[in-house]
Amino acid sequence: MSVLTRALYLAVERLRGSEALALLREIEPLRMLPPDRARALQFARLQALLEHAERRVPYYRELFADLRISSRDIRSLEDFARLPVLTKDIVRERARDLVRDDVPLSSLSEHHSGGSTGVPLTFWREPRYMSASAAGTYRNLRQAGWRPGDMVAFFWGWNDRLNRMSRVEFELRQQLRRMYQFDPFHSGLEAMDRWVRTWNRIRPRVALGYASTIARFAAHVERTGRRLRPVAGVFTTAEKLYPAQRELIHRVLGGPVFDCYGSSEVQNIATECVRGRMHVNADFVVLETDEAGRMADGTAPLLVTSLWNYAMPFIRYRNEDCGALVPGVCDCGSGFPLMELRIARVSDNFVLPNGRVVHGEFFTHLLYGSEGIESFQFHQTAMDRIVLWIVPTGEDGAARERAVRAAVAQVEALAPGLIHVEAREVASIPLSSAGKHRFTRSDVSIPADSGVRA
Ligand SMILES: [Zn+2]
Repeated sequence: MSVLTRALYLAVERLRGSEALALLREIEPLRMLPPDRARALQFARLQALLEHAERRVPYYRELFADLRISSRDIRSLEDFARLPVLTKDIVRERARDLVRDDVPLSSLSEHHSGGSTGVPLTFWREPRYMSASAAGTYRNLRQAGWRPGDMVAFFWGWNDRLNRMSRVEFELRQQLRRMYQFDPFHSGLEAMDRWVRTWNRIRPRVALGYASTIARFAAHVERTGRRLRPVAGVFTTAEKLYPAQRELIHRVLGGPVFDCYGSSEVQNIATECVRGRMHVNADFVVLETDEAGRMADGTAPLLVTSLWNYAMPFIRYRNEDCGALVPGVCDCGSGFPLMELRIARVSDNFVLPNGRVVHGEFFTHLLYGSEGIESFQFHQTAMDRIVLWIVPTGEDGAARERAVRAAVAQVEALAPGLIHVEAREVASIPLSSAGKHRFTRSDVSIPADSGVRA
């Protein structure tokens, strides 16, 4: 990368007012703190968060009052472990009481996510959280030698803003932001042929994104005998990374593959190091396991506390993933604690009659946060047929009808005239064999994808 490109990138970031690069400088050395100093830093941040929550957040104010303690009485992680768990049900029922009451809600950004019970939830974040989250991602990329201004191939959910951009505007923005976005919602064979050309033109230093999309791209490149300029590292996130996918990605894209773990509500939870071990980002989260739920394989439900979300503190939050804390210190030089992850999250990719392949995340975001809908599932029963199962709430039938109509139209527009979407209301949606709700489900396998996952 030229000196000029880097200077331009840094100027653009300054103009955007993002604190991410400044925060990166601050957090980058923390990963290499010795374990005792990392623990001390983590606990100091936890105390500051608890004090804030007690003072500014109605739900926690009430909780500390009920327990007849003050946040200052929590002097160790053992004390902390006695606080009640925050479940998704509580977040759903008490959402507004969990938001700090000293800033207007309009100053926060609203987000939605799913969950294994199938009922979506809403949460809020501050601009500073978003900057910290970006800084955390940058710190991950640094492990592969990425420097601010180096190009990132970014396989991530598309949105309407990107759809509305002209080609020229899109190209300019991707070049200036140094994150070139590839669209997992439009990832058929034709699209991936284009990706090969784009990749070799933009010359990414690293790649980042959905494990399934990057693996499908790698499989396509290998099958068609093309060559990609190798990257220094690949960072997968948001869904389960299978061993076969890891090998395939490494073989085709070059560079080591690092799996990163975050959940929708709490990001930057853990990152694989150069030794292939998963380190908890102790400056971003406190991670515990819920021993009451320990399973035969030694893992237990995770309880995660975000040390950065002051807008809506998540404290001892059961995010519905499972894992284990691993004792010992890694020889990579990082003093951050170790963990093992057992993540079940899998998004199905839908293949449509026009050859378009659409990552499951496309569908979920159509209905998250819609009024009158308790839960839903997009189920592809045949290549040209999708059933949208809806569990209605008692209220607001008109809002529900509007939301469903809009979602059906958007899905049918993926392959105009070639697919039919039928919405059906039901009392409940059956869980998967693993006992979890799936927002997307496809009975149609993508012929070219065989072996990508196994
Ligand atoms: Zn390590």
